[in-house]
Amino acid sequence: MSTLIRVEALTRIFDVSKPWLNRVLERLPKAKLTAVSDVSFEIEENSVYALVGESGSGKSTIGKMITGLVPPTKGRIEVNGKDISSDPDSAEAAKVRADIQMIFQDPYASLNPRWKVRNIIAEPVAVRGGKTGGLAERMLEQVGLSGADADKYPHEFSGGQRQRICIARALASGPKIIVCDEPTSALDVSVQSQVLNLMSDLREELGLTYLFISHDLTVVQHMADKIGVLYLGTLVEEAPRDALFSDPKHPYTQMIFDAAPRMDAFGREVDPPKGEIPDAINPPTGCPYHPRCPIAVDRCSQEKPLLRHIGDTRVACHLAE
Ligand code: SF4
Repeated sequence: MSTLIRVEALTRIFDVSKPWLNRVLERLPKAKLTAVSDVSFEIEENSVYALVGESGSGKSTIGKMITGLVPPTKGRIEVNGKDISSDPDSAEAAKVRADIQMIFQDPYASLNPRWKVRNIIAEPVAVRGGKTGGLAERMLEQVGLSGADADKYPHEFSGGQRQRICIARALASGPKIIVCDEPTSALDVSVQSQVLNLMSDLREELGLTYLFISHDLTVVQHMADKIGVLYLGTLVEEAPRDALFSDPKHPYTQMIFDAAPRMDAFGREVDPPKGEIPDAINPPTGCPYHPRCPIAVDRCSQEKPLLRHIGDTRVACHLAE
């Protein structure tokens, strides 16, 4: 398999300062929030790479930078060897980006309620001047709905069916890469597995590559080939799925695994993740996890651990061995 997406030292800083007049009156400095800090990873063609982490870990911001919805502050994004980050408005970057589509968390909010499903599905192709005759019907059948559904409106469908419509819309332009941002978390548990199985089948059938963003470890275990764990905008561990689930090396990964509900824990109380995520505007010195880490030593608050290889795993922890 060849590398399809390469992300190098990707960083996104948001200016979250109060308005100028408030800052002058209250004598406040500018406030900067580092949502993503120096993140590097690669995604192989026709594979599923998952980013996991608590909310505020930066996983959705990375997805938005790859799809072009948010520009990076620093770093580089390559798709198929082509840089799409240094001149995101160039014709070449736009052409490469046409191969990337996104599926969002909330199928209720991401479909225009006034449009027929036919127009919703055909729109991304129509804006690029592509042929749309019969397209909506073909796409609907591909995602397990009926071609006759093209003349209905979004409110006539259930949550699972609406997410199928979102998948049909994402597939309509024939993309190679789909960024899936919590695609099943707004759905009933009974419907989640149907949508995930559909996504797996489409990946096989169409040779798709997924960047899968989720906080749900059960979903990630079902879907991903490789997993990156994010904490406070930093990649703290990355490993092939089986290696990560059988031997998580970073104390943060171990904590989220301990806190995740498991089939064998049914009926027992599950510990919530311990501690609060620190303020991203004033992040801790050294290892960003040190205020919550149960095995932190003095060095952890002074020196930021670098990602290093241990077997197939990359881990950023002074004590991981
Ligand atoms: Fe914990 Fe230190 Fe490792 Fe950070 S570097 S995860 S604080 S042991």
